[in-house]
Amino acid sequence: MKNLIIAIDGPSGAGKGTLARTLAARLKYRHVDTGAMYRSVAWKAANDGLPLDDEAAITALAERAVLEQADGVITIDGQDVTRAIRTPEADKAAAAVARLPRVREVLVARQRALGANGAVVMEGRDIGTVVFPNADMKIYLDASAAERARRRASDTAHTGGQGTLATVQSELVARDKTDSTRAVAPLTLATDAVYIDTTEMPIEVVVHHVLMLLSDKLLD
Ligand code: C5P
Repeated sequence: MKNLIIAIDGPSGAGKGTLARTLAARLKYRHVDTGAMYRSVAWKAANDGLPLDDEAAITALAERAVLEQADGVITIDGQDVTRAIRTPEADKAAAAVARLPRVREVLVARQRALGANGAVVMEGRDIGTVVFPNADMKIYLDASAAERARRRASDTAHTGGQGTLATVQSELVARDKTDSTRAVAPLTLATDAVYIDTTEMPIEVVVHHVLMLLSDKLLD
């Protein structure tokens, strides 16, 4: 079986995490959640009292931080932030630091290093467009805003007073807008990505579909 690079992009709540985790487990590949990297850096910056637009300080933090993710546990400099980075405030903070071009440069370089040997499923917003434009397979997952909000609201990994479904949906749409309109590496569909609308698809069906798409490439 080949050591492919699989890129999974799309807006929040489209099912990227579940798909990436499941594929990685099936293929015995490494799973890299790049959103967790932006979230951890933002968490640490806020924790250190840095303004979230202090590009120089946050870039330095992103360069020196020890970022680890294994078995669903996310740490930065040895501190377990698995739950702390999944709150409505952390959502906004991550999107704020993700707009800073030099922070992105540092994290993109780290992401490329993590995937350099292949056998990786990497999820985010710019994996197929910027991090690995030559990825062996690019998937763009989407779903209606209402469905993505419903999934987010019932996701037990996300905590901290999510409010009503309407609030979750409006915050999610606002973050998508920030992510899609920012100057550097906005969320866009790569021309060679496979677009999958998961609004009415159970995740097992999505996984099965992607495994079918991968079957030839895995054997090449
Ligand atoms: O995927 P997740 O929702 O955890 O990502 C949190 C935030 O990190 C996104 O809203 C986005 O602003 C940023 N992000 C990014 N590029 C990535 C992954 C995440 O800009 N590759």
